[in-house]
Amino acid sequence: MITITNLSKNFSDGDRHSIVLDAINLSVERGEILAVVGPSGAGKSTLARCINLLGRPSSGSIVVDGVELTGLRAAELRVARRSIGTIFQASHMLSRRTAAENIALPLEYMGVVREERDARVLELLERVGLAQHAHRYPHQLSGGQRQRVGIARALALRPSVLLADEATSGLDPDNVESVIALLRELRQDLGLTILMITHDMQMVRKIADRVARLSHGRIIESGPLLDLLVDPESQLGNLLLPSPS
Ligand code: ADP
Ligand code: MG
Repeated sequence: MITITNLSKNFSDGDRHSIVLDAINLSVERGEILAVVGPSGAGKSTLARCINLLGRPSSGSIVVDGVELTGLRAAELRVARRSIGTIFQASHMLSRRTAAENIALPLEYMGVVREERDARVLELLERVGLAQHAHRYPHQLSGGQRQRVGIARALALRPSVLLADEATSGLDPDNVESVIALLRELRQDLGLTILMITHDMQMVRKIADRVARLSHGRIIESGPLLDLLVDPESQLGNLLLPSPS
């Protein structure tokens, strides 16, 4: 579903150049959940932004659902963007709009007619367990509920890929659990492919099929979760094991 080949990203600032992603190779099968882990500054968000087309790679190729994303023109980009939903750390909701109105935003941008939009929003609210809170404003929702609104909004255009960049940081453990359960359910029911960026190893253990570790812009280790966990030589495997307390 996602194939990334030799992806590099450089930033230039005057005469300072930095290589933020250095020849990344990664692939994620349809319906698979890949966790990308790594220290702050490793390039994880930059990778996510290349995949969701908010940032342009310097070189290399990204193919999502058979479409090569690098080199698309503006009109094609708009279409390709629909197949990729993104949820962020603190999902930003517009404060003067209710949960339902926030979820409706992408549908409004796409010009979906009122009736169809309302039906779709209701379906999304139900899917994330917020049907009772449709008309609440952001300040009337908990952090976990706001994150569910963010997830519903990311799903509005029926993407085949969901990118989650630190989607559970800042949430309390109960809300982290409920977001994990929801992501699992989405994979199960919708066959979504999920690329999840996180530093929460417990979350990785609970949900990932495959894990990649990014450091200084390079993938330094990757593999199926179960293989990593049983391989005593695997650094990632060791990181994933619960620390003795
Ligand atoms: P992570 O999400 O793993 O913490 P990021 O992808 O946000 O890391 O950042 C990786 C590196 O790229 C950091 O050193 C950051 O300063 C740099 N970087 C990110 N975006 C830009 C930008 N727009 N211009 C210059 N440098 C950037
Ligand atoms: Mg980041």
